[in-house]
Amino acid sequence: MTTDTSVLYFIFNREYWFKNYNFALKSAGPEVEALHRKFGTVFDIKRYALHDGPGIRVTVHFKGCPLSCWWCHNPESQYFGPQLLYRRERCVACGMCAPACPKGAISTEGGAMSTDSGVCDGCGACSEVCPSEARVTCGARMSASEVMKSILKERIFFEQSGGGVTLSGGEPMAQPEFVMELLGECRKHGIHTALDTCGFVDAESLLDTVPFTDLYLYDIKHMDPEKHKKYTGVDNDVILSNLSQLGGRGAVINVRVPFVPGVNTDEENLRATAAFVSGVRGVVGLNLLPYHSAAEDKHDRWSMEFRLRGTCAPAEASLRRAVEVMESQGIRAITGG
Ligand code: SF4
Ligand code: SF4
Repeated sequence: MTTDTSVLYFIFNREYWFKNYNFALKSAGPEVEALHRKFGTVFDIKRYALHDGPGIRVTVHFKGCPLSCWWCHNPESQYFGPQLLYRRERCVACGMCAPACPKGAISTEGGAMSTDSGVCDGCGACSEVCPSEARVTCGARMSASEVMKSILKERIFFEQSGGGVTLSGGEPMAQPEFVMELLGECRKHGIHTALDTCGFVDAESLLDTVPFTDLYLYDIKHMDPEKHKKYTGVDNDVILSNLSQLGGRGAVINVRVPFVPGVNTDEENLRATAAFVSGVRGVVGLNLLPYHSAAEDKHDRWSMEFRLRGTCAPAEASLRRAVEVMESQGIRAITGG
């Protein structure tokens, strides 16, 4: 399959990926499985993160997410493996990428560089030689010790600011063994841990993280199952059930609601969200995260389809109203991360 679009957008079925990934690992035998699970796929390690929990933090962004939210601010995080992204407007047509590709996936078509997405495995050899950053490899396989090395460099900031480490995404719990290893290492070093999750994850694996996680940042996108499915690709039943179970296990939870005009800002949904969250144990606060146009810019940059084009940031009055609705149910709500 050849594509001349300006981004290599890998098409796959998430459910198929989960089943086959785990099946393939199990059939490979315990030694190979143990080795393989020692690595995670990470697309960014962000230093000085200020909106992902208390204090100054390092946020480790895992690659791959079982949801595909229309407003996603990191659409390049959704695919589960390392991925080649191509920005056509940066390409100076030097042709250096084609001979660098070990798979012979790149050719010239009508003056533009075309990449066969059925052959490309995201190895990144072409992005290493590209002089204009038209080709960027998103995501890398890393061991827990490599990630910990980056984390430990920032330890002084954690101590001074009451910060720590946040595991975010994509969806970290789509790589549960790697999450457990990192959380365990952070515990050993006395580092505060936060886990940012969409909640559409295996319940047992999620509950296993409770003894190692100081704070959960837990997303609720919509209370209506049909609308949830429309805007994220999945139903919300697992998400709501997992949140209740986490609360029941003594987890400390900060709920996060992306506040997206035309999607979930109506009074009915706000009231339903407030009613549900007020019944969950362990919730210490709720953040309303106002939609902003960075999502549109990101989708455009990678030539990905954006289905909320033209959506504006929410009005101050609607945010104030949302805070009021949450507070009317005894929830400590604020705007922003
Ligand atoms: S990422 Fe690797 S396989 Fe894909 S086009 Fe570039 S060099 Fe070829
Ligand atoms: S190496 Fe980069 S700039 Fe040169 S042709 Fe390939 S994509 Fe374009």
